[in-house]
Amino acid sequence: MDYRAWVAKAAKEPLVLDTVDLGPLGPEEVEVAVEHCGVCHSDLSVLNNEWGISEYPAILGHEVVGRVTAMGPNAKGLEVEQRVGVGWDSRSCMHCHQCMSGRHHLCPEVQPTIIGHRGGFATHIRVHWAWAIPLPEKLNVAEAGPLLCRGVTVFAPLAMYGKPTDRVGIIGIGGLGHMAVKFAAAYGCEVTAFTSSERKVDEVKRFGASHVVSSRDSAAIGKLRGSFDLLISTVNVKLDWEAMIGTLAPDGRLHVVGAVLDPIPVAAFSLILQQRSISGSPAGSPVAIQTMLDFVSRHGIEPQNEHFPMSKINEAFARLESGKARYSIVLDGDV
Ligand code: NAP
Repeated sequence: MDYRAWVAKAAKEPLVLDTVDLGPLGPEEVEVAVEHCGVCHSDLSVLNNEWGISEYPAILGHEVVGRVTAMGPNAKGLEVEQRVGVGWDSRSCMHCHQCMSGRHHLCPEVQPTIIGHRGGFATHIRVHWAWAIPLPEKLNVAEAGPLLCRGVTVFAPLAMYGKPTDRVGIIGIGGLGHMAVKFAAAYGCEVTAFTSSERKVDEVKRFGASHVVSSRDSAAIGKLRGSFDLLISTVNVKLDWEAMIGTLAPDGRLHVVGAVLDPIPVAAFSLILQQRSISGSPAGSPVAIQTMLDFVSRHGIEPQNEHFPMSKINEAFARLESGKARYSIVLDGDV
């Protein structure tokens, strides 16, 4: 079998196409021929070792859509040729408290798809059967990639903490944020988008935001004091967090999914007096991914993607890094 992948040999190096020896298929693994794969900002952060946890050579790509081509003898619930998706994680122990509670993404042994594991910028990927998620019939597979990681990352907090009657603020309207706006609007919430890009305003309203506010304008943010039941932050940069937390209503929650490396300062009294919370979460469990996929196919929601052939992967990364992508990037397999 001719397995090939786009490999990062070292931090910040361009990706190069290489032949890969995947070895024997594990008994619980399935092999998936990659058709499409989203490019998440986390791929860029791992390429550049921004979090200090990257392992090289690295095969990135963790928003995979493809078809099952082989199944280990103990793999369950799937069939060869079936269309599946793979997201941020690709294996978990399947016997700890978290796995047995359906919260596999919190398993202490959970295996991220692109750190110490071969990801989806490749002809094939291998994952544990539980992490190859069957795709609903109605889903437009060419556009579905970004749902597998970024989609579930913003869907999960909405499902955990949101109510259809909530006033929800989405901070940062990129890959994650634009899907969050669409999900929250479909959920029934009144949605406010916080963006630093004036050019996005009209489009963000079409995605379902009723209000758009500058994420860099502390005075405008200050005027929204006490407004939101749930804020979901998708940015990886420092903002005026004190002003943002001030916009939370009593019992309101700031939920952080954007991987900002600077600490978020918080005054105890701004939480205590209004009974507010701050929380975070990583991607989602297989069941959360499945639930999100059912939700988006029921509501006809799609990410808004720019497409590149996979052979133009380095151009796609440059586009993501420029901040100009509208709103997520998908690579289409052409190797
Ligand atoms: P993205 O498409 O690059 O979007 C990030 C957005 O942040 C930008 O579109 C921009 O929105 C805003 N932003 C960027 N620079 C800014 C600045 N200087 N000031 C204000 N806003 C700025 O990235 P993504 O793929 O959505 O990923 C976003 C973050 O989520 C990354 O850190 C990624 O690693 C993380 N992530 C976390 C999880 C998880 O499991 N928790 C899963 C996936 C991704 P505006 O133009 O609207 O301001």
